[in-house]
Amino acid sequence: MVAPSNIIAGSIVWVEDPEVAWIDGEVKEIKGEKITVKCTSGKLVVRKTSNVYPKDPEFPPSGVDDMTKLAYLHEPGVLQNLRCRFDINEIYTYTGGILIAINPFQRLPHLYENRVMEKYKGANVGELSPHPFAIADSAYRQMIKEQISQAILVSGESGAGKTESTKMLMQYLAFMGGRNNNTGERSVEQKVLESNPVLEAFGNAKTVRNNNSSRFGKFVEIQFDGRGRISGAAIRTYLLERSRVCQVSDPERNYHCFYMLCAAPPEDVEKFKVGNPRTFHYLNQSNCFELDVLDDSKEYLETKRAMDIVGINQAEQEAIFRVVAAILHLGNVEFVKGKKTDGAEPKDDKSRMHLKTAADLFMCDEKSLEDSLCKRVIVTRGDRITKSLDPATAAISRDALAKIVYSKLFDWLVQKINISIGQDLESKFLIGVLDIYGFESFKTNSFEQFCINLTNEKLQQHFNQHVFKMEQEEYKKEQIDWSYIEFVDNQDILDLVEKKPGGIIALLDEACMFPRSTHETFAEKLYQTFKDHKRFVKPKLSRTDFTICHYAGDVTYQTELFLEKNKDLVVPEHQALLNASKCSFVSSLFPPLPEETSKSSKFSSIATGFKQQLQSLLETLNATEPHYVRCIKPNNALKPGIFENNNILQQLRCGGVMEAIRISTAGFPSQKMFREFINRFSILAPEVLNGSYNDVAASKRILEKSNLSGYQVGKTKVFLRAGQMAELDARRGAV
Ligand code: ATP
Ligand code: MG
Repeated sequence: MVAPSNIIAGSIVWVEDPEVAWIDGEVKEIKGEKITVKCTSGKLVVRKTSNVYPKDPEFPPSGVDDMTKLAYLHEPGVLQNLRCRFDINEIYTYTGGILIAINPFQRLPHLYENRVMEKYKGANVGELSPHPFAIADSAYRQMIKEQISQAILVSGESGAGKTESTKMLMQYLAFMGGRNNNTGERSVEQKVLESNPVLEAFGNAKTVRNNNSSRFGKFVEIQFDGRGRISGAAIRTYLLERSRVCQVSDPERNYHCFYMLCAAPPEDVEKFKVGNPRTFHYLNQSNCFELDVLDDSKEYLETKRAMDIVGINQAEQEAIFRVVAAILHLGNVEFVKGKKTDGAEPKDDKSRMHLKTAADLFMCDEKSLEDSLCKRVIVTRGDRITKSLDPATAAISRDALAKIVYSKLFDWLVQKINISIGQDLESKFLIGVLDIYGFESFKTNSFEQFCINLTNEKLQQHFNQHVFKMEQEEYKKEQIDWSYIEFVDNQDILDLVEKKPGGIIALLDEACMFPRSTHETFAEKLYQTFKDHKRFVKPKLSRTDFTICHYAGDVTYQTELFLEKNKDLVVPEHQALLNASKCSFVSSLFPPLPEETSKSSKFSSIATGFKQQLQSLLETLNATEPHYVRCIKPNNALKPGIFENNNILQQLRCGGVMEAIRISTAGFPSQKMFREFINRFSILAPEVLNGSYNDVAASKRILEKSNLSGYQVGKTKVFLRAGQMAELDARRGAV
């Protein structure tokens, strides 16, 4: 970043501060490598020169709408800019082509009215304030003009506002590409927009980080015809969090749909045999049942209305909620050791009653349901032996059934919506919108975080390569000389995880296929294989954890559940049970398996499947012109008006914003249009203003006289190296 070659006693500077990240102050003394600064907090601090940055003396009070307009492009400057914009509810800011969106945690309806969409239609980027509409508009126009598909990648941590931003982008695209149809049939764009509430009902939940957290990743592909009108769409989803169906920790909730059903109108509550959510084990592990911001009974009706629009008919809706209710009852079946055998059986009459209700709702045989939970058929040398499970294993079997049914239900919804919307296989081009989980690093990190962070590594690589390319294209356009800029490539991390054979996923799959493997043997294998890998660390105090040095920081993963979570297997007994359901909807969720796979429970790997999904996503993205929206969560209290510096900086780093800034700093980070440049610096060479003058020549003259080197003069702008703007300012101050 900027080297403070121009700092003298009396300069106003930024210094690091443990509490607020950066604090400003006045330089009191400079002694060799050390600078003494009197901070505005009153504190006197001593810092190394390399950690002191000049503060822009002419910083506009309401900030600038594009970071590249900052005279000094360094971390404290970026932060100061975001903060003073946030304070006046300017939540959007560009960094070159990237839109930074800070979650306001309050409704700002004036920002999203139809009137506003009208305004952005056809306006040039930069003409109006930064906005998701502007990004969607430029994607749309670029698609039409250059006939290339576009993608808008929305990222950020949980609660940062990805899903809300995605909805605005889609709303704008529907506005631009919608057709006026009078046929009475629902239009593609209406169905696309209404798919959101349906998927949110089944795929979102309240978590500690977000009251409406998406527990799956989503890529919506909107297809256009040759005239730029929406002609089809496809939704792809990624890795729904399954464990939530059976396991909720306080104060989180299970998926919204469970609570909605419990709050349904009385006739539905009766039909589906539900009631108070406090009576269901899958819900009452947490003490949170209601949300202030969400009225479940209203949401139930809204969800059904949205289901109507996306083409899910009444019979299907009924079957869907029957399955949701069946899962709740299933969760209430407890097991104890049987009296005659050691095998598990339902604990008491209550458990039997829930078992019967679940069977009724699934429309399957009660005894078969019980057997599928409590017994396993083992085939050895042609003999079929029935083995009873112990109560603990039966409970695991019950949860496995609940999870697989729920995840099949979710996949069915996505597929149904896709069929109903209809793809346009002849579409000329598309705009894809990606709303996917950001980098995660918690106290304990398991298989889910591992997959999520792999996603982020891949997207980060894509992002770096692109930002880098954009930067160089700008230089080409301005016809200035440039040389290759180094940037950190994370290919080594991707190799560590993905390489076949030998990467972590390959080793995990191997462990899953080998019956005697445990998480201990898996971890041991990792330690041996990667002992010299510079991105892999064995933590000192653990025998089974491993640490990956991700681009966004180190994350330590606990291997305990890796093997189990990686196995995507449907227990054959569960498969057979539900395939035989009298409800055609339920049986269609479990179509008969082809002969060979049904015999042995063949292992299929979630991680490998996910890796392939990501591969295909990246292939799609690589064929598009990408646009980026980086969402930032300003505080963990989820409240308006609070801007936590350290927290935000961390997100700017993880989201690659700081890296993008670093790439641009390595080139020519400060760029000024000739006229602006002359206005600011003509004082360094006042003679250039004499008589009539030419902007290019005058700018060149000022630069020559200032004795800088390495800068470039483009076709419309002056391109300065990092620190040179500050240098010029300092001289101007000295005149
Ligand atoms: P997750 O990864 O958990 O799904 P997310 O990034 O998708 O998180 P959102 O659900 O989009 O986060 O946003 C969280 C909440 O923040 C929203 O429910 C809403 O209350 C608020 N919010 C986000 N963006 C905006 C906005 N532009 N205006 C007003 N409120 C917003
Ligand atoms: Mg979301």
